[in-house]
Amino acid sequence: MSSNENSVSQETYDEGLSLVKAGQINTIEEYFERGYKIRDPQIVDLLLSKQREELVALSPVQKQTDAGEKTRIRAVVVIGDEEGHVGVGSGKATQVNDAIAKASRKAKLSIVPVRRGCGSWECKCNQPHSIPFRVDGKEGSVKIELYPAPKGLGLVAGDTMKVVLRLAGVKDVWSRSEGDTSTSISSVFATYKALKKTYTFITPEEWGV
Ligand SMILES: [Zn+2]
Repeated sequence: MSSNENSVSQETYDEGLSLVKAGQINTIEEYFERGYKIRDPQIVDLLLSKQREELVALSPVQKQTDAGEKTRIRAVVVIGDEEGHVGVGSGKATQVNDAIAKASRKAKLSIVPVRRGCGSWECKCNQPHSIPFRVDGKEGSVKIELYPAPKGLGLVAGDTMKVVLRLAGVKDVWSRSEGDTSTSISSVFATYKALKKTYTFITPEEWGV
């Protein structure tokens, strides 16, 4: 049997999108559980009823070309529904608006479910105001650890980290960071990677809690 990898992945993608359009997949969680990947921002628009977007970084980047040095703008955007879903994207372009549009598209394609909970021994309220357990994430030289915190504590984290946590719907968290956290872009991606682990590290006995 001959097969063409490209046409197969194209069919898989169309199938996921058509199931979403037909109302047979109604959540991001279900979409991933059925093995589909987000390849079209449309899927996120259809599955997330609420979306908030924040620009967390905008900086010039130099690129050496045959014609000399060229300046482009890099934008970093965070998108989330404040109810357990968040994505982060970076985009470069010569125009600010184009850089933001690229970053926004990538942020949508990177949307992941975030498992929230009350893993704090000081709280034990069982409400999804924090995270269920300690997670960490690394980007470049930056390593970030997030710990469950009691209700009302707020986000003990750097400003750009707070944007990712807030848009994910996490209200209380302790954090610890290592490395050059003045590189806020790395902190944003490290926080995203840490939050991503709340979902992928879920154990079977935690289902249905
Ligand atoms: Zn609690």
